[in-house]
Amino acid sequence: MMVDLPPGLDYNEWLASHTLALFDHINLFYGTISEFCTSTGCPDMTGPGLRTYLWFDEKGKKTRVAAPQYIDYVMTFTQRTVSDETIFPTKYANEFPSSFESIVRKILRLLYHVVAHIYHCHFREVALLGLHAHLNCVFAHLTLLNQRFNLIDAKETEILGDLEAALLGDSTSGTSTTTSIQDPPSGAT
Ligand SMILES: [Zn+2]
Repeated sequence: MMVDLPPGLDYNEWLASHTLALFDHINLFYGTISEFCTSTGCPDMTGPGLRTYLWFDEKGKKTRVAAPQYIDYVMTFTQRTVSDETIFPTKYANEFPSSFESIVRKILRLLYHVVAHIYHCHFREVALLGLHAHLNCVFAHLTLLNQRFNLIDAKETEILGDLEAALLGDSTSGTSTTTSIQDPPSGAT
């Protein structure tokens, strides 16, 4: 329900509002753990399943960069894009460009890399700060939006497929295995 397009609302408008919310939440979230994400600790932008993300610069050239640098590029690119009135129009009579959906796809893919890196390399710090439920919530939002409108390639999201099934349920299986994402059983004797 949270991601279904409300009747009468423009699809691009709906994508824009979710993209802005996800950017804000993921940017803020990364800020809480960024002190642990350094170029010595995270010399590559890694995700689960031995994945390493390379940054494509504006000329399309791939470069290997440390995770904090990659994430800085993601946030700078996204901030610049969402502030661009010709792409994310806010004024009356300004319209979305025809390339709007492909730009949103790119932003969501990059934000997904950030979330994947946080889960892969910083989940311990996240849990120690007691923020894991919040991280799962942001991930669920991104995943539900993607499931509804199919915005991120499956080869990007397969690395967190198990988490997706555990958090959101898998329609093909009756039981869920949530042990890895639940709070530790503090009350157990
Ligand atoms: Zn890191």
